[in-house]
Amino acid sequence: MTSDELPVEAAAPEQPATTFSDLGLEGPVLKALDDVGYETPSAIQAATIPTLLAGRDVVGLAQTGTGKTAAFALPILARLDVSQKTPQALVLAPTRELALQVCEAFERYAAHLRGVHILPVYGGQGYGVQLSALRRGVHIVVGTPGRIMDHLDKGTLDLSELKYLVLDEADEMLKMGFAEDVETILADTPDDKQVALFSATMPAAIRRMSQQYLHDPEEITVKTKTQTAANITQRYLVVSYAQKVDALTRILEVENFEGMIVFVRTKNVTEELAEKLRARGYEAAAINGDIAQAQRERTVNQLKSGKLDILVATDVAARGLDVERISHVVNFDIPTDSEPYVHRIGRTGRAGRTGDAISFVTPRERGLLARIEKATKQPITQMHLPSVDEVNVTRLARFDDRISAALEQTERIDGFRDIIAHYVRHHDVPEADVAAALAVVAQGESPLLLEPEPERPARAERPPRRERDERPGLDGRGWGDRDRGDRPERRHRAGDASLATYRIAVGRRHRVEPRQIVGALANEGGLKREDFGAIQIRPEFSLVELPADLPRETLERLESTRISGRLIELRRDTGGPGRRTGGTERPRSGARSGAPDADGKPFRKPRHKH
Ligand code: AMP
Repeated sequence: MTSDELPVEAAAPEQPATTFSDLGLEGPVLKALDDVGYETPSAIQAATIPTLLAGRDVVGLAQTGTGKTAAFALPILARLDVSQKTPQALVLAPTRELALQVCEAFERYAAHLRGVHILPVYGGQGYGVQLSALRRGVHIVVGTPGRIMDHLDKGTLDLSELKYLVLDEADEMLKMGFAEDVETILADTPDDKQVALFSATMPAAIRRMSQQYLHDPEEITVKTKTQTAANITQRYLVVSYAQKVDALTRILEVENFEGMIVFVRTKNVTEELAEKLRARGYEAAAINGDIAQAQRERTVNQLKSGKLDILVATDVAARGLDVERISHVVNFDIPTDSEPYVHRIGRTGRAGRTGDAISFVTPRERGLLARIEKATKQPITQMHLPSVDEVNVTRLARFDDRISAALEQTERIDGFRDIIAHYVRHHDVPEADVAAALAVVAQGESPLLLEPEPERPARAERPPRRERDERPGLDGRGWGDRDRGDRPERRHRAGDASLATYRIAVGRRHRVEPRQIVGALANEGGLKREDFGAIQIRPEFSLVELPADLPRETLERLESTRISGRLIELRRDTGGPGRRTGGTERPRSGARSGAPDADGKPFRKPRHKH
């Protein structure tokens, strides 16, 4: 099947995309969406928003990256009664990081609604702030189940008039041992509240919970009918958000591309990224849904004629785009779903040519990638960030090519021959040195080659949170991923200073999960949940925060505890060298790259036509 026969593609140009307003949203919420730069609803949003607005409970199978936060946040904001002083909406999230991110999302979507108060409530934070905010009145509370329970026990959180309850990442909450708290909250809040439950997986416990506590929920799974063309080579690169621009620049250097579309999730990012690429010497322009049709056509024509090489686009803007020169599609942000993925990569491999699709995937988005692979039934192979050596090899080859190309301009060469000969005679310098000096002139200030990458420093004292440096957009607002670690909520202990880090000899390689660690240590060591601090699962071992003053007998018992049959050999972590291996989980940090040639435009070999 060629890309031209793709069902999605055939339908796409004629079918106007669903808009947020088609889904029933209006006024200030729509305005906020325009500000954050979302053009069209993602599949989960298109399915969930009208259902929630109609008042039905929802069980949504959705992972991070699908846009599920907006799927539940927008209908809540659209129906919020600002005059009600007790909390109307409660969102339960497994970790404080997620709770904070959900709060930030609410804040952004509520930017044009007056007087809306949203409060994050999580363990580890002082009660004072939470109590005074609750006293003043909040509309939306986003919290981790443990701390919410604490407030309920203390009588400091009044959920008697709760209208909306959201369970975000329900499966994660259960894994972290919050099942009981979640059920208590579900049971002890008004019966007529609307419940939306989101989960990446649907284990029996969640199914049971939804049967018991939700009223005739609509189950939403985003189904996709998609097929990709076989003439397109599909690869992915695991990269943190912060590294994406550097990764793209390296790819631009080593890939033999002719024309390229770089897809991003929001229109704001199209402009920013195009600007960054231009600053690095590439002929790049942005197209998005806000750009007038005439301008869009001009830009597309420039791409066709070779005046432009790179278009940075959103899905909407690139709909139906048919330019033979597009040899590469880069998903700078992986799409929400397989359907837009197929459409995007179908922009390459036109007219019987081959094409290349490269998708950037942040570690947390791997689930999304697996979903796309499954839906398209085609493997997407992993690629590595082009190394400094690879970049340098291409730079040298291009440098050689420039010399060869110049040598072909025989007339101009002849014109300079005498000048050089004159210089050599009068300065007593070998011709090779003169040639090298001219290369310096031609190269200008930018170095021809990348410096070798420095050794990564040990990161013992600062445990890496997964994706520490991911941010939701170039401006911190658009698509992206969450900065969430493996941290379970830390419940209030009398002073966290009394926690110490311990190391156990089971890690990701042994397929261990936080709940197993908590379970085993709690059983064998007689520990309570509030004794646990952060848990970090590393490839070969894990780090667990536990009370610094564990009695000797407990320690001895724990040393000989087993998880999945393996002795865990619990001991105080010294931050020793073994941690380095743990610290290298993240992809290598990008080095400087993209230094163009002296005239600003990077040199590329012409791509072989297929
Ligand atoms: P989530 O799956 O809720 O974690 O969302 C992941 C990212 O998608 C966040 O950075 C959101 O800002 C972004 N996002 C959500 N909905 C849309 C949309 N319709 N268009 C573009 N970006 C979106």
